[in-house]
Amino acid sequence: MFNEESHLKQPIRWGMVGGGRGSQIGYSHRNAALRDGLFTLVASAFDLNAQRGRDFSINLGVDENRSYATYQEMFAQEKLREDGIQAVSIATPNSTHFEICKAALEAGLHVICEKPLTFTVSEAYQLKALAHQKNKLIGVMYGYSGFPMIHQAREMVRRGDLGDIRVVNAQFAHGFHNEEYEKNDPSLKWRVTPAASGPTYVIGDIGTHAYFLCEMITELEVESLCCMRQSFIESRAPLEDNAHIMLKFKGGAVGTLWASAVNAGSMHQQKIRIVGEKASIEWWDEFPNQLRYEIQGEAPRILERGMSYLYQDDQGVSCNRIGGGHAEGYFESWANLYARFAHAFDASDKGDKVTLERIWFPSVDAGIEGTRLCEKCVESADNGAQWVNYKDEGINNG
Ligand code: NAD
Repeated sequence: MFNEESHLKQPIRWGMVGGGRGSQIGYSHRNAALRDGLFTLVASAFDLNAQRGRDFSINLGVDENRSYATYQEMFAQEKLREDGIQAVSIATPNSTHFEICKAALEAGLHVICEKPLTFTVSEAYQLKALAHQKNKLIGVMYGYSGFPMIHQAREMVRRGDLGDIRVVNAQFAHGFHNEEYEKNDPSLKWRVTPAASGPTYVIGDIGTHAYFLCEMITELEVESLCCMRQSFIESRAPLEDNAHIMLKFKGGAVGTLWASAVNAGSMHQQKIRIVGEKASIEWWDEFPNQLRYEIQGEAPRILERGMSYLYQDDQGVSCNRIGGGHAEGYFESWANLYARFAHAFDASDKGDKVTLERIWFPSVDAGIEGTRLCEKCVESADNGAQWVNYKDEGINNG
């Protein structure tokens, strides 16, 4: 059970860049960070439109002197204060992540950054090196990875309940952008504009979520992949609104990942099925409290969150907030992650390596792999859907 007594002596003084009024994801960050009293929002540079950002910030209760026009001003001014921010969340369009993360680390802050972390793997490694040098942490907001049933799935794979993993079938395929809605939707417009979105649209925007679930649950390493991508709305080219990725993992397992924004009629369809030699598990983000468990030759079971038959989390910083049967959801998943970030930042600041190592959270390495997925998919797809080695340069024959 989530331990609300596991708070910090002082909440972490926290600021936000982006996520301003009307943004898609700003509220999710604030809701998650403020949920458990582990962070306190004391400064902001919420918006490209400075006046709107300040106005919004003051309305949310942030001191007007700490409602900054730009992130540069925020980092510089906060550094001068004894009670300056200790951590920052970055919820801006993809093109800005690298420069803002870099500036935040240089200002001595822990960072929670949106995905995809950067445009290139090389930039992501630069951030990792800088974080190491500054002794700061980077968390990446793979918001679905805080669901308790995802942790149950991971534990089941780890303990061998499925046997060796053979097949992974993952997808995040919604239908919201089956028409050219970007004409009237600025949040979608930047997503289909390479200069702001990066080398991909759906692969980076939603494929990285499903991919991260695959990574964290199975802990398999990709050896090579083959990607086909297309833009059904032609004006989105060269960015794709649909992609199919085939994966070969080290050790012989194989998988597929479908990322799409044109799956007409679908809400999310973020699903992951993991097939082992003796059993399979399946999870769907629209029913996140359930995990389907199918043992070959037996009746399928639906495991329910909050039940004593599940593996129990030992970290005291996440998981169930209420007994089984009640509907926990998306906001709890995010809050679970923010709780992990808070305890990790605190342990890091105290130099408490033992505690830090026990706290799982989506780290800079998860960010690197998401960016690598994008980079490798583009390399494969734009060479006629060739198989490419995941970590090495060059094209192989699959
Ligand atoms: P959005 O366009 O709705 O909002 C972006 C916000 O950032 C706006 O308030 C804008 O004014 C502000 N902004 C832009 N540049 C800025 C700058 N230099 N300084 C300060 N503020 C700036 O975008 P969104 O949909 O909220 O997406 C933001 C990021 O969050 C993207 O990287 C996206 O991939 C990610 N995202 C993640 C999830 C998730 O589940 N983790 C969901 C949606 C979006």
